Amino acid sequence: MKHYLEAFFTLSSPLPEESKEDLKNFFTQFDEKIQESRKDGEFSIDDWKIKNSQLSLTISSIDSVPPHVAILRIRKQMAEVIGKKYRVGLRGFEFKKYTIETELEQEPLEKFTLPLTSKLTFKEKDGKHSVVIEIDPKILEDFVEKGAIERIVRRVSDKISKQHYGAKKEHHDVLWYSGEKKLYTDKNPTQLMQKANWIQRTNYRNQWLLSPTITTLAEALKQIMIDHIYKPLGFDQMMIPKLVDWSIWLRSEHAEGIYQGGFEPYFVVQPKEPTPEYFEEIADYITITKTIPEEKLYEKITPPIGGLSYAQCPPFWAFLEGKTLAKESLPIKIYDWSGPTYRYEAGSAYGFERVDELHRIETLFIGSPEQTKEIGEKVRNNLRKIFEDVLDLEVRESRVMPWWLQQSAHESEVDVDDLVVGTIDWEAYMPYRGSREESEWLEIQNISIIGQKYPKGFSVKAEGNIELWSGCGGGSFERFLTAFISQKGLDTKNWSDKFMKYIDKLPEPIKFH
Ligand code: ATP
Ligand code: MG
Ligand code: ZN
Repeated sequence: MKHYLEAFFTLSSPLPEESKEDLKNFFTQFDEKIQESRKDGEFSIDDWKIKNSQLSLTISSIDSVPPHVAILRIRKQMAEVIGKKYRVGLRGFEFKKYTIETELEQEPLEKFTLPLTSKLTFKEKDGKHSVVIEIDPKILEDFVEKGAIERIVRRVSDKISKQHYGAKKEHHDVLWYSGEKKLYTDKNPTQLMQKANWIQRTNYRNQWLLSPTITTLAEALKQIMIDHIYKPLGFDQMMIPKLVDWSIWLRSEHAEGIYQGGFEPYFVVQPKEPTPEYFEEIADYITITKTIPEEKLYEKITPPIGGLSYAQCPPFWAFLEGKTLAKESLPIKIYDWSGPTYRYEAGSAYGFERVDELHRIETLFIGSPEQTKEIGEKVRNNLRKIFEDVLDLEVRESRVMPWWLQQSAHESEVDVDDLVVGTIDWEAYMPYRGSREESEWLEIQNISIIGQKYPKGFSVKAEGNIELWSGCGGGSFERFLTAFISQKGLDTKNWSDKFMKYIDKLPEPIKFH
């Protein structure tokens, strides 16, 4: 990697002439020290100058300490030299020009730009690809200090990998299959439930009203989960917040994937001023016109402060953030269904299987790697029992691996047969979609073991330095029931006794004239 930097420090006051000798010595020693520690590379402070209250520097390096790292070290070390002797402080630095040239493993398929860069130039020579990154000189010192330059460089190759692998389908291995089950219908389950008045669309996209009939079924499923997973495995219920501020999604790294194909949140805004006076004209307008003055309203609200619960478990971690867990509290086993989850599902209107306001049940466990793997395996077995035995569903378990995981170092940790680090999805056959072989099955539940990701992201430790892992899984009642109705239909005669045991009486649907 080749770097070239022109930058300057702003000083608290001009330096006297006699300081030049000290600075010269400082830079020579600085240079030498780096050359000694990085023998294979080249590093040099090509030039430095003092003019008024500015100290300008030109630094270049090839496969050695990058200049932006050097400048951070200079800032620290030189403060000692000039601060003590001349009582001059360093007020911080700015870049004039910073270019980074690095080889690329793959060629970019399409040009792109990146924030905090002013230009990316892709080159090819003798079949070798490289990029010249020009950093935006206005980049904040704080960003440089916290690793933004390194992440810019990584982002370039990540985006290129994504161009190459993005089109490829996820890796999909079927690990287990229930075998064929008796099916009682090949009708679209959403339409069946709509006609029976079990569910009704609202005015809002992909949102449904759940009638007493369907709610009774959801409650039965909850009880089945309790009896088959949470009670025997010692999980406790908890109520996780459903409004999630950015600090959570930054730590869980969801924010980085915003609308990139795996995180499609609903945003939440605040009133700029929560007072009657501030909103009086809006209230008057609505009263008179019976419409909402959207543009005017938009002026009175803040940018999003975060969003609505998307995957349930991230806000749980605020509970443990920065703390050290007592050994006796491990493993932690909890579940939550205290409120809906929201996802902006792009595209046309969907059926009951893909809703914007969904009712998920989340299972979360935290412990040592051994504890986490053991619990994950037990939850997996019990979920299998619920789907296959209690509900009598035709389902399969698949290991789904996105391209980035196939590529990453995790690969060696991923054992095809057991759940180490990775995700297992349960998918149900939906007869109305076509044959078993050709149709798309419906994902109804997943379970993941995600290793140290969350404990690290939220700085959670355990007594005695026990390594902490976590795992979690979610499934929505909308998916469970769509899958169930699509195989068994509405007639309870065809439902398994084990399921019926959980339904005292199915409320009669409300009828309309
Ligand atoms: P899909 O690929 O079908 O969109 P997903 O990968 O987005 O699913 P996850 O983020 O893994 O789903 O969420 C886990 C579970 O949450 C799913 O197995 C499903 O039960 C439920 N779920 C996710 N999105 C929806 C939705 N829009 N409507 C109903 N249930 C959903
Ligand atoms: Mg999705
Ligand atoms: Zn989760």
